[in-house]
Amino acid sequence: EQEVAEYRKTLAIRVSGFDVPRPVKTFEDSGFAPELMRAIAKQGYEKPTTIQCQALPIVLSGRDVIGIAKTGSGKTASFVLPMIVHIMDQPELQKEEGPIGVICAPTRELAHQIFLEAKKFAKAYGIRASAVYGGMSKLDQFKELKAGCEIVIATPGRLIDMLKMKALTMTRATYLVLDEADRMFDLGFEPQIRSIVGQIRPDRQTLLFSATMPRKVEKLAREILSDPVRVTVGEVGT
Ligand code: ADP
Ligand code: MG
Repeated sequence: EQEVAEYRKTLAIRVSGFDVPRPVKTFEDSGFAPELMRAIAKQGYEKPTTIQCQALPIVLSGRDVIGIAKTGSGKTASFVLPMIVHIMDQPELQKEEGPIGVICAPTRELAHQIFLEAKKFAKAYGIRASAVYGGMSKLDQFKELKAGCEIVIATPGRLIDMLKMKALTMTRATYLVLDEADRMFDLGFEPQIRSIVGQIRPDRQTLLFSATMPRKVEKLAREILSDPVRVTVGEVGT
């Protein structure tokens, strides 16, 4: 334990929550399957970034996580890699419809970036990802979602539109990510986020990532996450 505490200190990682898994040093330590290890290597990712070192083992253990680290620190792979594992762990995938992993992001650019990152790792497994955001034809997105996917990456407003149009059902969704939560709040998406969260089964795993953690975001996190582990990397303001 002492050694783990020292290691976290060298990496400037702070954690709070009970029974926090220890940080990993390599991707191998995370126990990823060979296909996923190959996809990681193909990206040129040699070792996990600091946030990944601590967030990966916690997310893989099934816990809810609040992850706070600055832009460019590699937060996306912290939730995308465990999402692939989570999806592959679902028994009888074909029995139900709708995405298993749902990721909300504040802007179409960010949603698209996450989509590209998710596709790189999903491809090896035949997992389908769809991106859904404003500025694209609703009919085209409706058709794409109707065709089926395991992962949906969306801006909150457009996801609500798609849910209203019954382009997808959330019955299978068990892995929810709110990325750049601070920016989603700044853009006024709190009501949409609450509506989306309310449509996803409560026994889901919920992850919230942000570069900063203003009090209102912290409050939402406390309401919608269960026994979360909070991971902070470096100096982060509120
Ligand atoms: P954040 O969401 O924290 O702003 P990103 O997830 O967008 O950061 O990652 C920033 C950049 O770092 C991206 O170009 C991504 O491909 C790259 N990256 C992520 N993880 C690693 C890694 N383990 N090794 C090398 N590069 C990485
Ligand atoms: Mg990001």
